[in-house]
Amino acid sequence: MPSHIYDTIIIGAGGMGSAATYHLAKSGADILTLDQFQRGHTHGSSHGDNRIIRFFYDKHFYTELMKTAYDEWRSLEQASGRSLLYISGSVNLGEKGNQYAQTIRRSLDMAGVEYEEWDKLQLRERFPQFNVSGNMDILWQQDTGFLHANKCVSTHLQMAEKLGARIQENTEVTRIDWQVDIPTVYTKENKFRARKIVITAGAWTSYLVRELDLPLTVTKQQVCYYRPTDTESFQPNRFPVFTEVTSESEFMYGMPYFGEKGVKVARHGMGKTILPDSSDRSPDSEYIDHMDKYLMARIPELGKAYHAEVCLYTETPDEDFIIDVHPHCPNILIAAGFSGHGFKFCSLVGRIMCEMVLNGRTAFNISHFRIGRPKPSGGILYRLQKVNN
Ligand SMILES: Cc1cc2nc3c(=O)[nH]c(=O)nc-3n(C[C@H](O)[C@H](O)[C@H](O)COP(=O)(O)OP(=O)(O)OC[C@H]3O[C@@H](n4cnc5c(N)ncnc54)[C@H](O)[C@@H]3O)c2cc1C
Repeated sequence: MPSHIYDTIIIGAGGMGSAATYHLAKSGADILTLDQFQRGHTHGSSHGDNRIIRFFYDKHFYTELMKTAYDEWRSLEQASGRSLLYISGSVNLGEKGNQYAQTIRRSLDMAGVEYEEWDKLQLRERFPQFNVSGNMDILWQQDTGFLHANKCVSTHLQMAEKLGARIQENTEVTRIDWQVDIPTVYTKENKFRARKIVITAGAWTSYLVRELDLPLTVTKQQVCYYRPTDTESFQPNRFPVFTEVTSESEFMYGMPYFGEKGVKVARHGMGKTILPDSSDRSPDSEYIDHMDKYLMARIPELGKAYHAEVCLYTETPDEDFIIDVHPHCPNILIAAGFSGHGFKFCSLVGRIMCEMVLNGRTAFNISHFRIGRPKPSGGILYRLQKVNN
């Protein structure tokens, strides 16, 4: 049995694990963070240049939580001296009277977050890149933007290391023995003990807590990149984050030109179920054609995709996160099931995990993220389909 007992072992150093590592390191705890891959890897869910950060949600509790998440990202920028958060504003497009626009308006109103309703002329004046006809709901929200995802993860990890956290890469956890006072984490070559274990293992979470049979489904997601001829008019100061609920109930989203890759556009969800270690990592040509066709009508200047990538969602049936204590072991905490919209919350989830480790509870409202919540009725895509049917 190893003699050293860490305060906390964190399994998984992606978006959530890196943030938890940072917050726990800030508290002065003795931490070990383990990841099966090297930092910056592209096998999980947190790689790439950008992830949308936004207040607008059809569920009000997310909008409320975002207030602290934004603050935490800004604190990290300040502490590290790095730019991580880029604000471009956003437009939400959808058919007049669509259910999604109604619910996000309600959430924003309840949270006191300002937004504007535009007509087609206002959109054309401000963002002539969009080609909009017919009767549409157009909602502008000025605080939306994107996070430099890779840099957020590496910043959390580097800042944590400076504070004394030990981060061990290329180390897969094969098993957790939690039926003892001090849980033990087994890797192929070693075992480590800690008073608390935080599991932030993304798509691999179910393998580590098989006994819980968590309702997690891993899906293949794809994103397309575009390089318009006039790159200037797609920079974050000239082009917004956008989302659209199409008449086919698809949820499209896109971001301004950023980094090497250009303008990123994708369809949220609807990916096929795969295993996290599946070799099916090539983009599908039908998907790319579908996105090109959508953009030909909506933002013709973008042209055709020149590059596409695959990433994983770990989805719960209601698309709400799982943030909870292991039901049979108070020393194990789980944060998983971020259902394709978790990155913006990493800064907050890190803080919540830290509070739960140190105090056994958090002041934030995470009641919707309990493991044993009643069987949910489905996420946004399900709800959109219901509205349309
Ligand atoms: C295409 C795409 C677009 C997205 N867009 C957005 C967006 O615009 N806005 C937004 O907010 N969110 C977005 N998301 C969602 C967001 O990126 C994820 O919710 C978030 O990154 C999940 O982070 P995670 O830490 O749970 O998982 P990961 O980042 O995958 O981290 C899990 C880590 O655990 C490690 N691990 C797993 N098992 C073990 C083990 N046994 N031993 C050691 N290490 C282990 C893995 O190697 C990995 O590094 C998007 C996701 C995708 C795929």
